[in-house]
Amino acid sequence: MTTSPSSLHISSELEKDADSGITAGDKSAFRDVLSKDHARRGKAPLHLVDMTDEERKEHAKELGMPAFRVKQLAQHYFAHFDTNVSEFSDFPSSLAQTAKDAFFPDLITPVLEQEADKGETIKTLWKLFDDSRIESVLMKYPQRVTLCISSQVGCGMDCPFCATGRLGLTRNMSAGEILEQVRIAALQCESGRLPGGPTRLSNIVFMGMGEALGNYKAMMKAIRQISALPPEGFGISARNITLSTVGVVPGIRKLITEHIPVRLAVSLHAPSDELRDELVPMNRRFNTTQVLDAAHDYYLSSKRRVSIEYALMRGINDQAEHAQLLAKRLNHYGDDWVHVNPIPLNPIEGSRWTASKPEDEAQFIDILRKAGISATLRDTRGSDIDGACGQLAAKELAQDLVRRS
Ligand code: SF4
Repeated sequence: MTTSPSSLHISSELEKDADSGITAGDKSAFRDVLSKDHARRGKAPLHLVDMTDEERKEHAKELGMPAFRVKQLAQHYFAHFDTNVSEFSDFPSSLAQTAKDAFFPDLITPVLEQEADKGETIKTLWKLFDDSRIESVLMKYPQRVTLCISSQVGCGMDCPFCATGRLGLTRNMSAGEILEQVRIAALQCESGRLPGGPTRLSNIVFMGMGEALGNYKAMMKAIRQISALPPEGFGISARNITLSTVGVVPGIRKLITEHIPVRLAVSLHAPSDELRDELVPMNRRFNTTQVLDAAHDYYLSSKRRVSIEYALMRGINDQAEHAQLLAKRLNHYGDDWVHVNPIPLNPIEGSRWTASKPEDEAQFIDILRKAGISATLRDTRGSDIDGACGQLAAKELAQDLVRRS
């Protein structure tokens, strides 16, 4: 990429953004747990979607390109998921390579693809510009096609039962890296890569690697461009976007002020502070009361039911008393504001946390429902292919760290 005064300016803006995760900072009682690779983190090349419209036009001008070319590039990107500028019939071939290099650098490259559920689940391991690994999972359901995406390389939340959490945070992903997962999946859907022929990517969930609210600015930039209509975005309704958090309360409160109706999913995993302090270390910073208060406020402002994610772990958090306490705590805020998704834990090798017995899962759901709380056991799509959040990439990252040490 050409280093011009304005691209330097754009880079420094991103630089400020890069470390603006709400979870980190000297004053915070909770610090992200960093991976060994954190020290060598770099910045992804700038992409069209990382820039504001003004920045795009300024950049184009420096490259000798008229401003209207930027709109053409955005139209191809968002409406046709296409970055092959040399094949755009409405774009001069003399400018194609310059435009490709300046606006569409290759940010994510597939290194491994695994299929499950008769091809209806496709899990992709991606390599980023600095050789980091992340993953995304595309899932076809009868009424929708959902893509689960990553927002950070690794995760700093340190949940002890989670493969990604064991590795720590390497770095935040750029909006470009986040959105490229969406564009490529949308293209796969359109080109008939899933069984049943061409279809449309309809739902996005931020439940892959990372704590999305820990990378707030890039995540919001991505959400705005997923939901805006072409040529400003992919046109996937904000209502079909789910944002998962472990309970970063300032992030939830900030999200309320955005007035963008995404669904909020809170990974609670325990009904009491005593247990959650152990399972979700972030709880020592923001406890269950603060998290549930913020989640309920999000419901009141967005009018969207909040999802409570709850990984069922055998003998740890899956007994009748846990379900009863969870029901009591949720009912404290009133009726019908929440939906609980107990998820059978996908255990990681060598871990003392393992999946619940089916009868305990059934009892857990039954207790919640009898207490008037809607609850569905979430399917573990692709569990035969390292399906839990970040497990495939976590495995690769762990091997990589071993190789480097
Ligand atoms: S469970 Fe989620 S929040 Fe916790 S360490 Fe794993 S990826 Fe991070």
